[in-house]
Amino acid sequence: MPRIAVIGGGIAGVTLAWRLCESIRGTGIQLFTGEPYRRADASAVSGGLTRAFEPDPDLCMEASASLAELQADPVLRAWASYRETGSVYLMPGLGRETADLVDAVRQRVPGSVELLDAGQLTARGVFRDLPEGSVAVVEKHAGYVSPNGLRDRLLVELARSGVRVVDGRIETVTREGVVHPVGGSPMRFDVVVVAAGAWTRTLLKRTGLPDGGLRNKAIQYVLAPSQPGGPSAFVDETTGLYGRPYADARVLLGLPTDRWDVPPGAVSADPALSTRILDVAKARIGYSPPGGEVAAVAAVECYHATGALSLRPLAQGIYTFTGGSGGAGKTVLAASRTAARSLVRTLR
Ligand SMILES: Cc1cc2nc3c(=O)[nH]c(=O)nc-3n(C[C@H](O)[C@H](O)[C@H](O)COP(=O)(O)OP(=O)(O)OC[C@H]3O[C@@H](n4cnc5c(N)ncnc54)[C@H](O)[C@@H]3O)c2cc1C
Repeated sequence: MPRIAVIGGGIAGVTLAWRLCESIRGTGIQLFTGEPYRRADASAVSGGLTRAFEPDPDLCMEASASLAELQADPVLRAWASYRETGSVYLMPGLGRETADLVDAVRQRVPGSVELLDAGQLTARGVFRDLPEGSVAVVEKHAGYVSPNGLRDRLLVELARSGVRVVDGRIETVTREGVVHPVGGSPMRFDVVVVAAGAWTRTLLKRTGLPDGGLRNKAIQYVLAPSQPGGPSAFVDETTGLYGRPYADARVLLGLPTDRWDVPPGAVSADPALSTRILDVAKARIGYSPPGGEVAAVAAVECYHATGALSLRPLAQGIYTFTGGSGGAGKTVLAASRTAARSLVRTLR
């Protein structure tokens, strides 16, 4: 029985442990969740926007495979609290490659996708003053999930399946596969996967392991009172604005930040960015807060140049599974399946 350590209790680590458990019945797998960091991780506050289309071809294949699995599995849909609001992805234009991707998504999720030009999208009533030539990929079968809810549910499943779930932090990981829990004794594993999100670099650095090009960046959105006729889940590449309906008659609205190399954990929101989010939302979707509190939410996420959550080897038997770059909520189901298959192959 191979001994496998998965380090990280975010959606990446938990989903990977769950996939591994499907292939190699639980008992050799240990998951270290990293408490108390888990409560301040990216999965806890993720917007969970979920759709099949992505302008990057690899991400598009992962996102559409993940959405197809979710659509086909009512249990998974319930665990992830999937809400089908539809999705709009607005781009400045449509090149040949992107048009091919839209066709690929049409085949994977039949009857869901239509392409609208700026005039057609404006006529539907939410978006305004769109740049000439802009194009929207509109998906009927898309919306948002709760990565936080899904990982909490999967943690219960893992404990039931015989995976040892340890609510503690790992101090160090060595090149030889020795994992040292804080306050515990070192343990040796055949395979160690570091899926500690924005904490991954610091953990690897302690023992001189390379990070494979990972970087941290803050993500920030606001939660504000919704107004009638608000948007579905959407991304507007022409301004960077994204959003979706939120619980308790609120709307989630965000813009990308440029706050790189921020330490994870307690990151403060930038008030100037919150103001900019509301300004852009006013201009693009006619949003003006109808009174009530506007709360800012910020957290740190781990980025990789490819933009993808995927398994990356660092040394013999040592891997990272992170680098979701602000989008792993929508790709994690497919990415974890691919990663688990690849790990199981190396063990045979
Ligand atoms: C504000 C925000 C909004 C987002 N919105 C969306 C969205 O709308 N759609 C979408 O697809 N994606 C979205 N994302 C991205 C997505 O949520 C992330 O890609 C995903 O949650 C990352 O999961 P993770 O498991 O890699 O990292 P995390 O969720 O950060 O988890 C890392 C885990 O590692 C653990 N850990 C840390 N140090 C240690 C240690 N020493 N030992 C053991 N464990 C440790 C922590 O406890 C934590 O549980 C958003 C992200 C943020 C921050």
